[in-house]
Parts: sequence; C-alpha cells; structure tokens
Amino acid sequence: MIVGIASGVTETLLAAAATAGADECCGLLIGRPGRIMAAVPARNVAADPARSFEIDPATLLRVHREARGSGQQVVGHYHSHPDGSAQPSQRDAARAVADGQVWVIIAGGTITAWQRAAAAETGFTPLVLQVTA
Ligand SMILES: [Zn+2]
Repeated sequence: MIVGIASGVTETLLAAAATAGADECCGLLIGRPGRIMAAVPARNVAADPARSFEIDPATLLRVHREARGSGQQVVGHYHSHPDGSAQPSQRDAARAVADGQVWVIIAGGTITAWQRAAAAETGFTPLVLQVTA
C-alpha cells in the first residue's frame, strides 16, 4: 500500500526526532485514508520514554475532536527510535492492533511507515511512503 505524505510533514518529523534526542518523540498524523497531511506533536508520557512512547491522552482526545470538526481524521501516529532501528520494536508489536492506523517510525534520519497486519497474520506490513508537495 502506498501512503502519501506531505513534504513539510517529513521535515517536521525529522526535526521532532532530532529535538527529542535520546527520548522517543511521538505525535499524531492527520489526513485522509492513504494520505498524511499534517503531524501534531504530543508529549511522550511513557514511564520509560527512552525506550517506548505513550501519546499524552489529553492531546489524543483534542486532536481526534479537532480532526472530526475539520472533516479530516487521525490516520495514524509517529514515534522515533533513538537507537536508529527503522523497524517496529517488540514493544510496538505487543501493543499494535490491526485497526488500519499507520505507524510512522523515524530512525537514523529516515522515515518508514508500517501497518499492523490483519488479525490472522502477525507483525507489521511495510507501507510505501510517497512524498508529495
Ligand atoms: Zn517503536
């Protein structure tokens, strides 16, 4: 599956990962199915932010509400891997559900996208990110 991502969003994500440094950054991705149009940063409230992420629930609620009001939707979320691994981690796999949400991972200056495979399968399926204007 191909997912479009606005070029400004890729810059935002790379900058967020760089700013977070040794901690994982995280946030939500807004747009339409198959198209990421905006990224909204969130506080990582995980107990161990260097090795996992948990999007601030207040931000989650607010962004879902705002997206509905603007005719868009939350199509997924992003987080960074400070260790440079571009693959979903075992922690990621343990919490992912096959809900169609796009998982974007920023690692080592690159951005990859994934989707939890359907329930009958295990693990993540890689998505093709296509950068658009
Ligand atoms: Zn991860």
